[in-house]
Amino acid sequence: MTNLFQPRLLNEVFGDPGLFVRFRWERRALLLDLGDLTTQPPADLLKVTDIFVSHTHVDHFIGFDHLLRIVFGRGHTIRLFGPPGFISNVEGKLFGYIWNLVEGYTLTFDVYEVSSDKIVAARFPCGARFERVDLPLSLPFTGVLVDDPLFRVEAVHLDHKIPCLAFALAEVERINIDPERLKRLGLATGPWLTEFKRMVRAGAPDDTIVRAPCGDETGETFRELLLSDLRDKIVTITSGQKLVYVTDTLYSDENRRKIVTLAQDADILFCEAMYLEQDRDCATERHHLTARQAGLLAREADVKELVIFHLSQRYQECPEALYHEAAEAFGGPVRSR
Ligand SMILES: [Zn+2]
Ligand SMILES: [Zn+2]
Repeated sequence: MTNLFQPRLLNEVFGDPGLFVRFRWERRALLLDLGDLTTQPPADLLKVTDIFVSHTHVDHFIGFDHLLRIVFGRGHTIRLFGPPGFISNVEGKLFGYIWNLVEGYTLTFDVYEVSSDKIVAARFPCGARFERVDLPLSLPFTGVLVDDPLFRVEAVHLDHKIPCLAFALAEVERINIDPERLKRLGLATGPWLTEFKRMVRAGAPDDTIVRAPCGDETGETFRELLLSDLRDKIVTITSGQKLVYVTDTLYSDENRRKIVTLAQDADILFCEAMYLEQDRDCATERHHLTARQAGLLAREADVKELVIFHLSQRYQECPEALYHEAAEAFGGPVRSR
């Protein structure tokens, strides 16, 4: 099965944290955190439609300026999601520069600030010198940030002495058509299958009539079939891929519970592992995780694979100690990428 999400860490494990997630079949990508982006190919950054920022400590947000430089002059809207205070943080970045001669530029940032109970939003249009426009939007926060036809993004607030967001990206269920069974029914492939899949995904009533073209030479003959019959005969549904991104968090009971719920059964958990267990006092004081704690979270959430990142530079001579510790606690594969 080919995966929709093609994730890679932005930098090596001692560098600024962040994840670039390309979509396999689309000219589209997501960014989780905005650490140093200068190593990223501009062509990749130009694909980014949505950005999810855990918190705005400098190592997670300094890349905003580089992104702005690359996408400036492009005519699209980029959505950014971040924790309380995020709209002011983005506004502060944009107001660090003088904007003139930008009339007619159509780049827009739509910024969503996610607090524990609600989401508020503001728009920053380049053509209006990035003057802030508060959007008349105040939604209750239910845990879901994006509900797209292809994927969902969920978030939880963790305690890092400040609120810090962790994210789960979940591909929607895959609806696959069996070409052999389609052929046996004498039906043709074509755009009608896209609409049929959409109806199945949306849970259209069983007695919906589907008009399907027959697989003859002319393509002009149609059969009318009940959606439920056709679904039972030609469709297989499989669960989609799930990625979870957790960084900068205290190993408290409450954080642990939230992370395990968010990451349950994920394909890959990307988890910070700033310290070794022997330095747990530092981890606790700075509200970070140890490699062992990252491994325990992965184990408890029953994820398939753990990727650790955001390692303290104090371990540059011995990164394998962090991998070893995380793998021992997890009991499964641990990677860096
Ligand atoms: Zn950090
Ligand atoms: Zn931090």
